[in-house]
Amino acid sequence: MSANPSPSGSSFNVVIAGGGVGALEAALALRDLAGERIRTTLLAPDPNFVVRPARVKEPFGYTAAQTYPLADIARDLGAELVPDSLKSLDAPGSRVHTEQGTELPYDALVLATGARLRPAFSHGLSIDDSQIDDQLHGLIQDVEGGYVRSIAFVAPSEAVWPLPIYELALMTARRAYDMQTDVAITIATPEDAPLAVFGDTVSLAIGRLMEENGVTVLTSAHSSVPEPGVVAIHPGERMLKVD
Ligand SMILES: Cc1cc2nc3c(=O)[nH]c(=O)nc-3n(C[C@H](O)[C@H](O)[C@H](O)COP(=O)(O)OP(=O)(O)OC[C@H]3O[C@@H](n4cnc5c(N)ncnc54)[C@H](O)[C@@H]3O)c2cc1C
Repeated sequence: MSANPSPSGSSFNVVIAGGGVGALEAALALRDLAGERIRTTLLAPDPNFVVRPARVKEPFGYTAAQTYPLADIARDLGAELVPDSLKSLDAPGSRVHTEQGTELPYDALVLATGARLRPAFSHGLSIDDSQIDDQLHGLIQDVEGGYVRSIAFVAPSEAVWPLPIYELALMTARRAYDMQTDVAITIATPEDAPLAVFGDTVSLAIGRLMEENGVTVLTSAHSSVPEPGVVAIHPGERMLKVD
């Protein structure tokens, strides 16, 4: 966040770029801290806030992730919503330029535009939650039909949020069980223990849950995918062949 003294001397003008949880938490916290003393503008291209963690359910035919109109949230927050994207920043002039050609002056700017997605491996399917239903629906159908017998869920070695991989593996295993098909499911993850970031108690419970559902978890596994269907795991130079 960058902040400058209010040029107008009137209410302090905060521009928040983004419409995800980061932007909305910033807007809520600023309203709690500063109330009427600030004027907030939300600059966001998408009309809705989406509960991204719930998107993992979609390929399994469960209800779609909840969405909430940003216009309603902005109204509740007393903020102005500008449905546009940040294009460039004139920091010395304290101005944001938008894709549609508008200039937004600010006293303080919060950038909450999220992370940019890029595939970690050249082969295999890189999960993009904005298209997760399209990406995985066919695969889940193939599991149900018994056409796919083995799947690896691979977490890349760079810092990642691994929880969705466990959720996807578990839901796939349960779906195969319900359909009475056999599928060997492996998670390969650089973590030292399953979901280690949550501490020992959770990690042990998750490890047990995976075991009970027949999901193999390979920890401290740094993976590459040299060709379709092959996961090379280091250290140990192990090769995992999967459908
Ligand atoms: C499948 C999945 C499951 C997850 N599960 C969990 C979980 O269980 N628990 C948990 O804590 N976290 C979970 N996460 C992580 C969590 O969703 C992210 O950490 C969180 O969404 C990050 O919030 P953010 O606001 O920083 O970014 P984002 O959610 O990426 O939002 C970025 C926002 O910025 C907007 N934007 C992009 N470019 C511009 C621009 N140029 N100008 C203006 N706006 C722009 C976008 O439209 C979007 O509204 C999960 C993520 C995924 C993908």
